[in-house]
Amino acid sequence: MSSDKFVDKQVAFLYASQTGNAESISHNIYLEAIRRGFRASHHVLDDYRKFNFDSLRTIVFVVSTTGDGDPPDNSARFWRVLRKSSKQSEAYVHLRYAVLGLGDTNYSNFCNTAQRLDKQLEEAGARRFYRKGLADDATGMEDVVEPWIDGLWEKLEEIAECSGKKGEGAEEGEKGEKGEEGEEGEEGEEAKEAEESEEAKEAEEAKEPKEPKEAKEANEANEAEEMNKAASGDQAAAGLGALSLSDADGSAGIPPVVLDFRAMSGLSALTGVPRAPAALCTTAIAPPPPPPAPGARDSAASLPPWHLDICSSSTSDPEQQPFVAVLRSREPLTSDDAVKRTLLAELQLPAPDRTRSRAGDAFNVYAPNDPRKVTALLQQLRLDGKAGGRVAVGSLDERIAVPVHLRRFTTTVGGSAASATSATTVPSATTVPSATTVPSAHTAHTAHAARTAHAAHTVDSVLRWAVDLHQPPKRQALRALADCCADAEDRERLLFLSSRQGTGQYERLRAQSAGVPETLALFPSCRPTLARLLDLLPPLLPRSYSVCNAPQGGRWRFAFNVVEYALEAADPFAQREEQAVVRMERRGVCTPFLAALPLGAPLLVARRPAAFRLAPADVPVIMVGPGTGVAPFIGFLEQRAMQRPLPEAPMWLFFGCRSAQHDFLFRRQLEDAQEAGRLRLSASFSRDGGGAQYGGRGYVQDAMVENGEEIAELMAQGKAVIYVCGDAKGMGKDVNAALVGILVRYAEAHPEWPAQLGVAKMDPAAAAKLLTQWAAEKRYLRDLWA
Ligand code: FAD
Ligand code: NAP
Repeated sequence: MSSDKFVDKQVAFLYASQTGNAESISHNIYLEAIRRGFRASHHVLDDYRKFNFDSLRTIVFVVSTTGDGDPPDNSARFWRVLRKSSKQSEAYVHLRYAVLGLGDTNYSNFCNTAQRLDKQLEEAGARRFYRKGLADDATGMEDVVEPWIDGLWEKLEEIAECSGKKGEGAEEGEKGEKGEEGEEGEEGEEAKEAEESEEAKEAEEAKEPKEPKEAKEANEANEAEEMNKAASGDQAAAGLGALSLSDADGSAGIPPVVLDFRAMSGLSALTGVPRAPAALCTTAIAPPPPPPAPGARDSAASLPPWHLDICSSSTSDPEQQPFVAVLRSREPLTSDDAVKRTLLAELQLPAPDRTRSRAGDAFNVYAPNDPRKVTALLQQLRLDGKAGGRVAVGSLDERIAVPVHLRRFTTTVGGSAASATSATTVPSATTVPSATTVPSAHTAHTAHAARTAHAAHTVDSVLRWAVDLHQPPKRQALRALADCCADAEDRERLLFLSSRQGTGQYERLRAQSAGVPETLALFPSCRPTLARLLDLLPPLLPRSYSVCNAPQGGRWRFAFNVVEYALEAADPFAQREEQAVVRMERRGVCTPFLAALPLGAPLLVARRPAAFRLAPADVPVIMVGPGTGVAPFIGFLEQRAMQRPLPEAPMWLFFGCRSAQHDFLFRRQLEDAQEAGRLRLSASFSRDGGGAQYGGRGYVQDAMVENGEEIAELMAQGKAVIYVCGDAKGMGKDVNAALVGILVRYAEAHPEWPAQLGVAKMDPAAAAKLLTQWAAEKRYLRDLWA
């Protein structure tokens, strides 16, 4: 190990990802590392048991930030372990690390996960070997990600050399420190809760607003935009230019996208074109079987064909094991004229042991891509005749496994064609997991097992259930698609879109919510193979919903906004005035699926770690939940109503909506609870003022400020817990700012109060710090989402 000639090219790539971006970026770096001769491994942070974190020497982290500065769900357990270890200042002196953070400056606590990780590792003695990268989705992540990756290799080579010379190149796991498994297993519930509370404290401490300096520095997009504008101006003046590309009819019924490529012909060269991700996947497709007899269609089309596998596979947390629930009811909560359509749905859960839920819980729903998008994509790939054919996915590089979300497709086709590594045998009806693992109310679906065993591995199922067709393609993906064009103009346009000069049009593509099918419809000669597309598409992730009842009787109710919206884009080449604006209907993945699901249909769900817990019955609670953010508080109300004797501690809800007539969600329930003295309701109406009964226009924070003295009193007495739920982008930030203002004003009226709290002066910074402290003490809890 200490030989001068030894070069330790070992590196672990660890990621924490909420929507798949961090995973995909980390995976691409890992693939490149393998190609560059590194002994690389790749893991999600919560798999720390597999990689023995304590013994790794060189780690490259790619971590995203979600909600209100929170780490992704798939790193929750890792944080507990890290916090435990990092209490010792020397715990990680052997470790060299680099961190790439992904975030969005539209939200508070930009790149908080990366900042917090960096801080904790540094405190525990680890050495950062390369600058921290903080990528901002608001301005285009690639502007930071690409140069950061470019610079990484030199640093990795340097430290590999260095390790060899100094003889530091210990094997992964060589240190032989105790793995975390035993430790974790021994933990009691109490210890865990204490840990979580400490963890929350640290998380909140790290949530002080930060200026995203590095993101700004790295972002040269504005410059590119300027160049683009200038080029566009020249172009227009010269009367040149390619036609705006609007596929007026859409492909296979998908709505069109409007882009303007006139700026291209004024450009001599493109800069900032990213590298295309290296090819990894390979596919073999078997001829499809004859179409099923009429009426033999699988009635369980609302479930992924491999749901039986998922339901019976063992996960590290059995509480989060997916299971099949049945849609029992669905009703509108809003009027036909409401700005957003909100529905209340009820699921029947299968067995009592699955229903150990409490108010404040949330759960995940597994939904498929819009079939129209799948059809359009199949047509574009010229695969429409093969949709029912069985597909086997393999890896072009035997050292590299295919991404996790594609591994169930690593079967051989007809036992021969696939060059898949780690190929498994084709599942037959007999290898389908037994029905006993599936909730009894749903065993009818096992009758479909044999059929789904085939369907689970078709071209159609991989595009419907495994990959995300909704997200706009990343610039690297556009670069890769340029290489799949038969037509030179299509290729050049795709290169332009991926370049610095194309930033303006790329942002337009994103603003039009164009997924891969819509984007490909613009470039008719672009025909990637299925394998290449699988390299480029991120995994399709489940969506989360808050349970809005006190779970009992095996039911979960939840309220959701149906994500269906219209966008408009100007078409500068329109021949007639009425065509000057192109209207595009867009839909989300999960909520339109839920809105259209027939009653009685099964769907795959899984519990999600709870963000909120109702405070004990003697603790006053203040709840802030505009729109569907009110959901968990309806559960809280029900839970308190069930307690005997009836709790006396007050419940105060700040609810907000646009109009008392159209979107006052749960109005009857809330007003009844108020009449019964179980709830104090402060409702705000942003557009119609609430009519005679309520009066006055405003947001929830306006009502809070009006009642500031009382809120501050409740908080100051040290008893109340305040909960905020809903939109992270605007409301979450503004409510926090309102609370800061309330505390500052309260302190002016009560000069003795800051000293009681050990604060010299209650200015906005001190008030913000106090809120952070209360958050750590779980007296100020937020569950915020985009
Ligand atoms: P997606 O396919 O995810 O599309 C959503 C995207 O569409 C947006 O991010 C945005 O980019 C775009 N978009 C949407 N509207 C517009 C517009 N008008 N203009 C331009 N672009 C637009 N949601 C609820 O409704 N109820 C809940 O109780 C709830 N609870 C949640 C609990 C948790 C813990 C979390 C994390 C989230 C929760 N959400 C809830 C949000 C929910 O998970 C989904 O994000 C939401 O339902 C959208 O899912 P979708 O698949 O239909 O849309
Ligand atoms: P919404 O669109 O946020 O609108 C509700 C009300 O809030 C409207 O009156 C709106 O007014 C107002 N509003 C807009 N900007 C505001 C601001 N800066 N401060 C305060 N109020 C503001 O409601 P929604 O459509 O139901 O969306 C709620 C969001 O929460 C969604 O993103 C949903 O996905 C999320 N959600 C998250 C969770 C969770 O994380 N557990 C649970 C449920 C819902 P105007 O439109 O008139 O401006």
